[in-house]
Amino acid sequence: MKQCKRCGEQKPLEAFSKRKASKDGLHYYCRECNSPLLKAYSEANRERKAAYDKAYYEANRELALIRARASYEANYAANRPRDRARVRARQAGLATATPMWLSKGHREAIAAIYAEAERLTRETGIPHHVDHIIPLKGKGVCGLHVPWNLRAIPAAENLSKSNRIPDHLIV
Ligand SMILES: [Zn+2]
Repeated sequence: MKQCKRCGEQKPLEAFSKRKASKDGLHYYCRECNSPLLKAYSEANRERKAAYDKAYYEANRELALIRARASYEANYAANRPRDRARVRARQAGLATATPMWLSKGHREAIAAIYAEAERLTRETGIPHHVDHIIPLKGKGVCGLHVPWNLRAIPAAENLSKSNRIPDHLIV
């Protein structure tokens, strides 16, 4: 027999659950006293775990969103010059000025010039555009949308030039 430290009743040893840390290897409280306490403990534990899981999930979700945004922006930045070259080409109706024989290397060279204009804009703070050295709709002559007819120059210069053919190119 053993006395329960909670209800004070004398009960057979079987009424106490095992507890290695105790001298007699049994719990201080009888099973009957202990089980509601265990239940309350496990419930509190479950709630704590749920709160932890929720916080963990939300922190992870936020991190995943930040990662997704960063990856999207990196991807966007990497493709931007090429995209801009394409968009710009469409806007200006360059299809007719872009020769069929333009190679992949030529197209990459064009994209590189647009990238250069963006780099100059970024690094100098002065807006740079891609300029057609011989205007696409010049007087008497039409330039082509080819790498050797393109250059990155300050936007103001591009606009003031309008569609005039540069003097040094007039023969
Ligand atoms: Zn008891």
